[in-house]
Amino acid sequence: MKYRINPKNQDELSTLGFGCMRFSRDEKEVEKQIIYAIEHGVNYFDTAYIYPNSEVVLGRVLSKGYRERVKIATKMPPHTIKKYEDFDRIFLTELERLQTDYIDYYLIHMLPDTTVWNRLIKLGIHEWIEEKKEKGQIRNIGFSYHGGRDEFFRLVDIYPWEFCLLQYNYLDENKQAGIEGIRYASSKGLPVMVMEPLRGGKLVTNLPKEVKSIWDNAHVKRSPAEWAFKWLWNQPEVTVVLSGMNSMEMIKENIRVASETEVNAFTDEDFNLFKRVKEILDQTIKVPCTGCNYCMPCPMGVDIPTCFSCYNDMEIEGKLASKGKYIMQTSIKNQPRNASLCVKCKKCESHCPQHIKISEEMTQVAKSLEGVTYKPLRFLIKKVMRFDK
Ligand code: SF4
Ligand code: SF4
Repeated sequence: MKYRINPKNQDELSTLGFGCMRFSRDEKEVEKQIIYAIEHGVNYFDTAYIYPNSEVVLGRVLSKGYRERVKIATKMPPHTIKKYEDFDRIFLTELERLQTDYIDYYLIHMLPDTTVWNRLIKLGIHEWIEEKKEKGQIRNIGFSYHGGRDEFFRLVDIYPWEFCLLQYNYLDENKQAGIEGIRYASSKGLPVMVMEPLRGGKLVTNLPKEVKSIWDNAHVKRSPAEWAFKWLWNQPEVTVVLSGMNSMEMIKENIRVASETEVNAFTDEDFNLFKRVKEILDQTIKVPCTGCNYCMPCPMGVDIPTCFSCYNDMEIEGKLASKGKYIMQTSIKNQPRNASLCVKCKKCESHCPQHIKISEEMTQVAKSLEGVTYKPLRFLIKKVMRFDK
């Protein structure tokens, strides 16, 4: 494993971090995976209050003698804070779930802008952080962010943060905070942790055949995931790259890649491959949904991430295949979950880190993937598969 030094406190952090949002359901398997990762040098684990069951499972595993070998990062959801006591209510629950007395890297989760931060200041967050740091319960304080570049600069400057967590990958080089944001944070001495290195899987699954061909014929044989990770680790401003790992195969492969990757190792030939791939991918992605699920549940039952996934796959898989997948995926529950159920209430939109105009896009999804055949086909599928029992 390769490590990078946190310039703020000299912590040695593994360049590969374990993203704990999507643990597999088999807890025994998760335990094996976490222990394997630790034994092979991964020392940064990222979870959150709102990730279902994640803190609890991570806490159980780490309590078996691994706590001191790793850094735990977890997060406070700011929208749940209405009064001063809420800070402790959330934080103490997290300590209990994680079976620990302190958090190494504590984040304000998806801090959208300075307005929300100023609201938290009014509720006493400065005093609260000071108290927790004095008691040694929080070692480093940071924030995670999905917004635009200029607001990111303002947030970096508004408080003496000790780290930040950003969405970043080769497709998003100039989106959200982007490379300028990463460089700005780094120039202020902040270690930068990165999430969505594979853009919710979009950089590895269902790739257009032109992109597959570029990777297959590259001067060095690497998988699309390996290229994507190496692009990140090539940059000295990137400290830890989080990967939501939920299979042993993936963990082993990511550890191998992380262990072999150096900073500033890319050649012009490498960069040229990314330029060509990006040009193609940019044309195919209609909606920049990462499948994070933050917009769910929709009060009307629309399965927002699934709708966007099928919609985006149309360019790659073709309309017929995407329609078939869409009908299946929006029909296999007792209640329908398709795009035309959307009533444009926009309740989902403020939760979307990608700032997608979900209600407007749903009209397009319905237009492209439903039409007159949708309802009869759904009826047929439910009959055949007996989902309506
Ligand atoms: S705007 Fe549409 S998709 Fe979003 S919450 Fe409302 S009904 Fe659901
Ligand atoms: S629409 Fe936005 S919030 Fe919902 S899954 Fe996609 S990226 Fe996440």
